[in-house]
Amino acid sequence: VSKPITENVQNALKIEGTDISITLSASSFIEREDWFYTLSRTVTEHTRGSVVFNSCSGEARDRLHLSLGEKAPTLVPVSQVMMCMNCTSDFSLTLRRHHCHGCGRIVCRSCSRNRYPLKYMKDRMAKVCDHCYNELKKRGGETLLSSNNLT
Ligand SMILES: [Zn+2]
Ligand SMILES: [Zn+2]
Repeated sequence: VSKPITENVQNALKIEGTDISITLSASSFIEREDWFYTLSRTVTEHTRGSVVFNSCSGEARDRLHLSLGEKAPTLVPVSQVMMCMNCTSDFSLTLRRHHCHGCGRIVCRSCSRNRYPLKYMKDRMAKVCDHCYNELKKRGGETLLSSNNLT
């Protein structure tokens, strides 16, 4: 499942199988995102069930992606990381390591400037990397939008 960048179709969603490839067009951005998450999860679960050697990193990232901010992440061991996992600048005595509380990755100071209330920390403000911040902000906005649609 992927989100193709097409000029003529808005909110497109592409599903590629071993012998089929479908491109869907959702009626709204939110609907497309909804489909995307549902399909991605289904694919992940399917892969987990049928593949003996599961690709740990991709799978873990998918699960993490879905539960961002809801569970404490597995913190990446500091000693193994020599550069920022976001912008790849090398750590040094002056460039210190910072843990992102959203995904557990180690990023530099400039990539962890943002704070966001995380569910697993009882909505306390926690340091998150730029990537998580954007993701959480986007999701927060979507939740607001969809609850408005329901009422
Ligand atoms: Zn960085
Ligand atoms: Zn993060």
